[in-house]
Amino acid sequence: MSENKPKTMGQQFGRRSWAEPWKIKMVEPLNMISHEERQAALVEAGYNTFLLKSADVYIDLLTDSGTSAMSDRQWAGMMMGDEAYAGSRNFYNLENAIQTCYGYKYILPTHQGRGAEHLISQAVIKKGQYVAGNMYFTTTRLHQELAGGIFVDVIIDEAHDPANLHPFKGNIDLGKVEALIKEKGAENIAYISLAGTVNMAGGQPVSMQNVRELRALCDRYGVKIFLDATRMAENAFFIQEREPGYASKSIAEILKEFCAYTDGAWMSAKKDNLVNIGGWLAVNDWPLFEELRNLVVVYEGLHTYGGLAGRDMEAMAIGILESVNDDHIRSRVGQVRYLGELLTDWDIPIVQPVGGHAVFLDAKAFYPHLKQIEFPAQTLAAELYLDSGIRSMERGIASAGRDAKTGDHYYPKLELTRLTIPRRVYTQAHMDVVAESVKAVYDEREKTRGLKMVYEPKYLRFFQARFEKL
Ligand SMILES: *Cc1c(COP(=O)(O)O)cnc(C)c1O
Repeated sequence: MSENKPKTMGQQFGRRSWAEPWKIKMVEPLNMISHEERQAALVEAGYNTFLLKSADVYIDLLTDSGTSAMSDRQWAGMMMGDEAYAGSRNFYNLENAIQTCYGYKYILPTHQGRGAEHLISQAVIKKGQYVAGNMYFTTTRLHQELAGGIFVDVIIDEAHDPANLHPFKGNIDLGKVEALIKEKGAENIAYISLAGTVNMAGGQPVSMQNVRELRALCDRYGVKIFLDATRMAENAFFIQEREPGYASKSIAEILKEFCAYTDGAWMSAKKDNLVNIGGWLAVNDWPLFEELRNLVVVYEGLHTYGGLAGRDMEAMAIGILESVNDDHIRSRVGQVRYLGELLTDWDIPIVQPVGGHAVFLDAKAFYPHLKQIEFPAQTLAAELYLDSGIRSMERGIASAGRDAKTGDHYYPKLELTRLTIPRRVYTQAHMDVVAESVKAVYDEREKTRGLKMVYEPKYLRFFQARFEKL
């Protein structure tokens, strides 16, 4: 019977074709340079796809951050920028959009997500306190550590297994949270750092039941929950698709219910919110908001612009409303899944189930002959670029960085290469080209040699590290 077991979520949940709920009004030409030129560009970039010039890239799947195509309405909104230093009308539109869609009371704009992470980490974390999160995110954990926090991963064990088909692999292990609270004392937990979907686990969602139970647990001990809302609209799609009782609820309803279980959120609006720059921070507690409003003036800008132009806030306000549209989210996640299912059909190892924003190639399974310190995921990203000019990103040992205390590398269980799909930018034909390139690189896998790191920056090293072929 095992051959009848569903291989993909599509088979498990039934598949109907989707189409984008928009048509194209303006196009941007793409150019592919030759194989020799790509080889030279790769060496010049130290085998780090972050250091490639965009002009040398054909299909850019480095990130979904700030790479979305804006709608005609957003572009029209850009023309309605009120560039007053204080009290811009675009701020009030933004505040209203966040209150409507996410439900939080008090809002601050920030230049992007990490600006908001910085403020909340500085305001809430006392030196030596613990921050428990469902797997780390690079900038999030760094800001928590720079504020004196000690990060503890409390995601369920299934999240670390790329082949496990758990429908909510982003869930928090409540047992791990309770054990931590009991061991360290509730007063030594700064907050629970909850993210949906979980980027580093493969864009995996958190269920409504999980956040509801987490809320009950935290209420018993008086612990706060702050949400990384960066991809919560996509998370809402998975709840709608997979969680009993939510099939007939809208993305907007699900998103708002989820947020209601948390005490506040930070946002990289460059992701779900469909803008090229921007972020925000939102809380429900007035004294905390006062503290944050104090800090925002120091690090970002006045509390009604937070480092953004009025026109950027307007585009964000409109983008937020578009981002909770059911048809939008369905086609967004559907396109990612389409790519993932092509690769699954060819038995290429990827993180299953396919997540919300990206397909994650399992580089450890791709290159079993490479040791983790030979940077298999970085190697795979370089090989893909060489094959077809497609740019992907390493999410493995290079991204994980070093333990500040011991100085040793973190050796993450997951060693992944991320094919991240920008929102509303590429077509299904681009996805076909990408899948065929991955297949070509896979067919050559046994001949592939790894990399060694020859330059290592101190912070967030993956952005600027340089490598050489072994
Ligand atoms: C991108 C991202 C951030 C940081 O946001 P920036 O806008 O890049 O500063 C935080 N958390 C998650 C999950 C992200 O993906």
